[in-house]
Amino acid sequence: MAEPARAFDAARLVNRATARLRAYDPGHDLPSLRRRFGAAIAELGSNENPLGPSPRALAAMRAALPNTCRYPDPRGVALKGALAERLGVTPDRIALGNGSHELLMLLAQCFADAGHSVAFSEFCFAVFPLAAAAAGAPAIRVPALSRRHRGAPLGHDLAAIAAALRPDTRLVYLANPNNPTGTWFADAALEAFMAAVPPEVLVVVDEAYHEYVTVPGLSTALKLAGRYPNLIVTRTFSKAYALAGLRVGYLVAHPTVVAVLERLRESFNVNLVALAGAEAALGDGAWLAKVRAFNQAEREWLRNGLRARGYHCLPSQANFLLCVLRHDAAPLEHRLVERGVIVRPVAGYGLPRALRISVGSRAENRRLLRALP
Ligand SMILES: *Cc1c(COP(=O)(O)O)cnc(C)c1O
Repeated sequence: MAEPARAFDAARLVNRATARLRAYDPGHDLPSLRRRFGAAIAELGSNENPLGPSPRALAAMRAALPNTCRYPDPRGVALKGALAERLGVTPDRIALGNGSHELLMLLAQCFADAGHSVAFSEFCFAVFPLAAAAAGAPAIRVPALSRRHRGAPLGHDLAAIAAALRPDTRLVYLANPNNPTGTWFADAALEAFMAAVPPEVLVVVDEAYHEYVTVPGLSTALKLAGRYPNLIVTRTFSKAYALAGLRVGYLVAHPTVVAVLERLRESFNVNLVALAGAEAALGDGAWLAKVRAFNQAEREWLRNGLRARGYHCLPSQANFLLCVLRHDAAPLEHRLVERGVIVRPVAGYGLPRALRISVGSRAENRRLLRALP
């Protein structure tokens, strides 16, 4: 008689890089919470834009729907052209992604491996360590600025990151402003960093929250792109443009960087409706101005409301606040969920005493404040 076969388990067959990964944990079962709370829910966990997409984007997406029997333009010529004009670069410097998440992953897959390390800060965006791990690359995790650091506690320590680079380092990921801390660094700090980094190290500046920035001294890393061919800037339509469900992001880089990404990029990675919606959203400057003004005022209103109730938040240039408690945040988070208020626990980022709270509509923000003990 044959030996009883061992139970089949594909987990035993994975390659070395995949063995280090875990499936994405969405944190909450949002569909069931939406059923439970209906219109009384406050969704403040994912940094989405409560004002919704531009009406021009919605119209363009509706108009595109009948064409979905066709494949999308694999080169995204129209959207790249619109972005190129807006940003003052040539289209060969632009790559489009199914969200900027895809582009962040693709960069590590193309440029890092077991022999080429990837550097990022403590308390950085979760996709950075994930991209390094998926590429099988060693990670260099640099301690953040200390809690006592004036101005930007928990933010990226650019001098320490520059000092931590090794001869084998190929990629550095920075987010400005950063998620989940909301912290930022000034243009001048990035300029000093770029001057200190060897040209063989690709520096990725993730500007997912760029459109929300209102502080003087911070504009965009794109200003340095002409001088530093190793600088890569990623952006997204998920945040201020309110198209998170559509999945479109882009990056601006040296044409040879873009050409390398093109080797691995899935041919039709940005869908036809997304190409149309993003292009129209980009053309609606009045909508974006409204979004910016709303977020700036509402961020302040929410911060003040939280402060009045004894909650301390870090300064933020994004559309969320990092609320730092004196105790473990899990009980408060559970209490809020039970009242239909969804915020983001950040224990997985190494911040068990903090909660990330998106700036919602005034009604949602009120619901949050009322639900606090
Ligand atoms: C939300 C976010 C993104 C955007 O991801 P998409 O894939 O474009 O939706 C990128 N970087 C950071 C830091 C973010 O917080």
